[in-house]
Amino acid sequence: MTDAHCHLPGGETRHFLCDPCESAPGVQDVRFIGLHPWLCDRELDLVDLRARLAADPALGVGEIGLDRLKERTISPRMREVFAAQLVLAAEFRRPVVLHGAKCWGEVIRALPQPSSLIPSFLFHGFSRSDGLLPEIVALNGYVSVGPSLLNDHAVNYCALVRKVPIDRLLVESDRTSENAAAVPSVMDVATRLSTLREVPLDRLVTQLEANADAFLAR
Ligand SMILES: [Zn+2]
Repeated sequence: MTDAHCHLPGGETRHFLCDPCESAPGVQDVRFIGLHPWLCDRELDLVDLRARLAADPALGVGEIGLDRLKERTISPRMREVFAAQLVLAAEFRRPVVLHGAKCWGEVIRALPQPSSLIPSFLFHGFSRSDGLLPEIVALNGYVSVGPSLLNDHAVNYCALVRKVPIDRLLVESDRTSENAAAVPSVMDVATRLSTLREVPLDRLVTQLEANADAFLAR
């Protein structure tokens, strides 16, 4: 089972790891590098990023994007950092993990047109904006569903998750060193998803693995 987005590996056979700072990834893990929008005031070392992408053809780009969760306005610096990393992802034809808390429409508008040099996008923690699903599909985008699905009050989130095409769904824990002890497993998320989508769990797990492979395919 693939955990399609985490920062710390644990408990699954494959992790899509964004900027892991601890524990070396296992053989099946796929790593993504990039400057998170929350850290965009730090230096963006494009020379180092380019060198690392050039040295490792399996490396993806992420998590990168825009954010309105911490501050209401998106700073010019945040946009600039996002745009510069998208240029690199296009240059190296790498899959991209996107962050767009409370501003998914703006994230999509900020993508280069056409975005076809970037093979695929992972809309990690995507919520609220079901009107964007056709654009996400057109971009070869995938939506990774997280532990919020297990929240009894997640009525709107469940409604959104029902609308995502089944071949575009992934599951994620968003595990970090801070939340590692408390975070549910992606199998818990998949089990809930199987009820929600009325698909038997074994069939859903096979589909999710095929989707994870398709996201990486170039
Ligand atoms: Zn994350």
